[in-house]
Amino acid sequence: MSSLAKNYKRRNLSFSKGRGSFLYTKGGTKFLDFVQGIAVNSLGHANPSLVKAINKQSNKLWHVSNSFKIPEGEELARKLTSKTFAGAVIFQNSGAEATEAAIKVARRYFYSIGQSKKNRILCIKNSFHGRTIAAINASGSKKMTEGFGPKVGGFDHFEFGNHVELKKKITNKTAAIMIEPIMGEGGIKVIPTWCLKEIRKICDKKKILLILDEVQCGIGRSGKFFSYEYANIKPDIVPIAKGIGGGFPIGAVLMTKKVSNAMVPGTHGSTFGGNPLAMSVGNAVMDEIFKKGFLSRVKSNSRYFISELNKIKNKFPKIIKEIRGVGLILGIQLHHDQTKFIDDLLKNKLLTIRAGENVIRILPPLNVSKKEIDMALKIINKVCNSYKN
Ligand SMILES: *Cc1c(COP(=O)(O)O)cnc(C)c1O
Repeated sequence: MSSLAKNYKRRNLSFSKGRGSFLYTKGGTKFLDFVQGIAVNSLGHANPSLVKAINKQSNKLWHVSNSFKIPEGEELARKLTSKTFAGAVIFQNSGAEATEAAIKVARRYFYSIGQSKKNRILCIKNSFHGRTIAAINASGSKKMTEGFGPKVGGFDHFEFGNHVELKKKITNKTAAIMIEPIMGEGGIKVIPTWCLKEIRKICDKKKILLILDEVQCGIGRSGKFFSYEYANIKPDIVPIAKGIGGGFPIGAVLMTKKVSNAMVPGTHGSTFGGNPLAMSVGNAVMDEIFKKGFLSRVKSNSRYFISELNKIKNKFPKIIKEIRGVGLILGIQLHHDQTKFIDDLLKNKLLTIRAGENVIRILPPLNVSKKEIDMALKIINKVCNSYKN
């Protein structure tokens, strides 16, 4: 009997060791891990650079209060702003905290310029921004909010892809539009670049802020540092988390200098957010991702992976409906429920995870090798074959 609450549907499987793309059970069984803690272990398990960084820092200093300067955090913020649209960063510990902070920053910005009535956030219906009370209400998902009333106000919703509705839902009370450029939980639904461009234009015209939730698709996952870079646009606020800590819990909200001016002392805080231990790991992750050739390798591996997955799809059109995704955030959409397929991949020692719309989510480490991709392809092909179409 477990003393843990039953809020997760857990598999009867655990691991005692991880190395790169692989996980090992206590008994020594080896699995190819293309979940990586849901896009968290961006550099695989036990990456030597990260192990070195955390060991070094753990012998020096773990934690100090944010009422003191934290040089490791200054350094990570400098790295994040020098590589992106952002002019300032607030560190958090998780994705939901980062999206919550993004909402606070947007509201506080309008408050600071004397427009406090502009405080509503417009989101995609059935999106995912985390599990806090505000974040579940931002999602507009009945399943996530059921039983957690009263409803938190201040959020409006439009249907994915419906720009007519999007425009209609913007009022003089709208402060920001918040969307995931690639909807991870929703089924690896990529927002087309033309769509992101149009949303940016709408935000400019209506003088509202654009929040892009890059918690899952950011930090190199798409083949660019941020996935919105494909659309050649600049957001105003970007919450990040998952990949930035490479397995250590880190969240952050990035924002333009202009917006950051609203966040004066006392407006936001976090006890753990941005502590030296976390920041040292984050710095090591950034250094790896911005090594020469790293992101272009993500892109070339992605091109190969997607084209081979499409070959499998064409061989088994009655099983696979669509291959989705960008970079190394990929999805195999089936015609039917994906539960058995994921179980069969697992029986063949390939770990994947479900997403919405019958999608099998594939999230290898960003430094995955072509040989490991081939291993996965062979298993996916084998499972398709076993169904005889
Ligand atoms: C995972 C995720 C979150 C929430 O992150 P947590 O660390 O679980 O709180 C928010 N937004 C997106 C897009 C996510 O994928």
